[in-house]
Amino acid sequence: MCQAHRQQYGFDAISAMPTNLFGPNDNFDPEKSHVLPGMISEAIRICVNNDLREKNDIEIVVWGTGTPSREFLHCDALADAALFFMQNYSDPSHIKVGSGKEITMKQLAELVKEMVGFEGEIQYDPSKPDGTMKKLLDSSKLVAMGWDPKIKFKEDLVDAYQRYLDNFEVEDFLTCSD
Ligand code: GDP
Repeated sequence: MCQAHRQQYGFDAISAMPTNLFGPNDNFDPEKSHVLPGMISEAIRICVNNDLREKNDIEIVVWGTGTPSREFLHCDALADAALFFMQNYSDPSHIKVGSGKEITMKQLAELVKEMVGFEGEIQYDPSKPDGTMKKLLDSSKLVAMGWDPKIKFKEDLVDAYQRYLDNFEVEDFLTCSD
């Protein structure tokens, strides 16, 4: 559509394709969210219930085998890239926006575990889908243009977590003991 508007009306539209995004106002519903907010809310739910019920045999269950890898980009970095494009890019071909770094779901689970302060075990549930084994965009065009993604994944992860905790209600995470 951007290409058609550009061709027909001379409208300076560009099309940017981001990688997997995360950040504030994400969907944290455990059943319908993507992996990063899903893991965070699951870890919080387990910590809350463990603290209140003094269970020791707790574990966090991660979907799939833990072997697929994904590339993540904080939504603020995408906003930064969008501004960069408006100032520096005007071309019909679409442009990919990624961090250039990938992480396995197992590594992600370990990071979330450490960040949330969860001390139980991580279990993998292979009955849940792994999905695509690898998703890594080729963002070389963007990097060659001089955009610096300023990727600091751990800090970005903590930022998303902290901003989520700002709106966190303990009651939302209590599960029935029966
Ligand atoms: P997509 O596969 O890139 O569209 O995105 P998802 O975020 O839904 O899934 C990415 C990977 O995380 C897949 O390999 C899932 O099996 C894995 N995964 C592990 N735990 C979870 C979880 O709690 N929720 C979701 N959605 N995916 C999970």
